[in-house]
Amino acid sequence: MQETIQMTQFKMDKKRVTDDYYAKWKDWKWQIKNTIRKVETVEKILGVTFDDDKRKVIQGTIDKFPMAITPYYLSLVDKSDYENDPVFKQCFPDSQELQLTNCDMEDPLHEDKDSPVPGITHRYPDRVLFHTSNVCAMYCRHCTRKRKVGDQDSIPSKDQIRIGIEYIKNAPEVRDVLLSGGDPFMLSDSYLEWILDEISAIPHVEVIRIGTRTPVVLPYRITDGLIKVLEKHDNIWINTHFNHSREITSSSRHALKKLAKAGIPLGNQSVLLRGINDCPRIMKKLVHALVANRVRPYYIYQCDLSEGLEHFRTNVGKGIEIMESLRGHTSGFAVPTYVIDAPGGGGKIPVMPNYLISWSVNKVVLRNYEGVITTYTMPDSYEAIECDRNCESCDLQLKLNNEDEEDVVVGISKLLCDYEDEITLTPENLDRDRRNQGADEVDEESKQEPARI
Ligand SMILES: *Cc1c(COP(=O)(O)O)cnc(C)c1O
Repeated sequence: MQETIQMTQFKMDKKRVTDDYYAKWKDWKWQIKNTIRKVETVEKILGVTFDDDKRKVIQGTIDKFPMAITPYYLSLVDKSDYENDPVFKQCFPDSQELQLTNCDMEDPLHEDKDSPVPGITHRYPDRVLFHTSNVCAMYCRHCTRKRKVGDQDSIPSKDQIRIGIEYIKNAPEVRDVLLSGGDPFMLSDSYLEWILDEISAIPHVEVIRIGTRTPVVLPYRITDGLIKVLEKHDNIWINTHFNHSREITSSSRHALKKLAKAGIPLGNQSVLLRGINDCPRIMKKLVHALVANRVRPYYIYQCDLSEGLEHFRTNVGKGIEIMESLRGHTSGFAVPTYVIDAPGGGGKIPVMPNYLISWSVNKVVLRNYEGVITTYTMPDSYEAIECDRNCESCDLQLKLNNEDEEDVVVGISKLLCDYEDEITLTPENLDRDRRNQGADEVDEESKQEPARI
């Protein structure tokens, strides 16, 4: 086992891995205490020596974007080819991180801008992102929140967390709270328990999601104590972040098994990374390893436009090629959704190959993964049920009153539904509006203003 072999290298004075040492190694707090932050330590453990120039360049990178690697994660690096190693590339700084390009942004996803109160990003109607920790076990080199990495590692105080909780309490439309960070599992069991209890006490919150990379970089964090805290609530979902099958080790499998046995649905969000997993075969191997461990591949993210990530970014075509290689070729539940998180806070936009080739009034033309082109004939008649939001006048069995529904319909759904009058979505500040402003004043009545949404 790679991990055991390299443990000995970590403690240079220990030539053999004793039971006692292995017990320490598996203690997550020991892993944190021994987090690797210095280039020299990496050199020692990997048994390599960088020349002075390289060391200087790496140090320069660390000065801007700090390094933190758990001994466990570094132990997964294949020393014989570390420079191409997918684990090494995710944890060890690269001077290319300092090359800024003109499309790099500090906060491409507008997480700070879409924040009504500190710690909360409220972008979608019914769910919020709640940054409950700004500490991570490891600093991923491809972190989308790279701008914040290395800010004072501090756990938000209860008073700070309460601000977010109050916000959620006063937002009855929020039914799904996504704890993220940082890594929520870097909080102590008791602190996390307090947060989960507080959120669970809010009547309109139906689901709590936790995003954590600990099963990948610090699997020993999944302790029996943590499981007990999580088991108290039966509405918790967990998303983790494996990017390569090499990260699925006996230790991480053990952690996933504990979570799955506790009845927690597990998902995985990967990032498409150049030189790491931008290969249909690597991705297929990863999704197979995930489902074999009861983890459902959820998203593959196109790498964001955050500062210092240019060298990780791929062409979008690579992502589509990967999706093409999965759908139909393997189990449907092993196929994630490939998304681009739109710069400027537009949210996640799914991108996939086209399967609907054409259509007429009574038929659609489709193609499958093999390239077979087929048709689906629509029913002779399909009487659309007009919805006026009054369930009393409808045969379907929803039987909701208007008042029961918190949500208002927005976006393309609003254009499609029967009960709204909007017929167009029009950007504000159109050139043609400005040009026609003069005409507007003269002939106001003959003009129909498009709706602004
Ligand atoms: C990703 C994200 C969510 C959750 O999106 P889902 O598609 O529901 O997984 C919620 N809020 C923000 C700000 C996000 O970035």
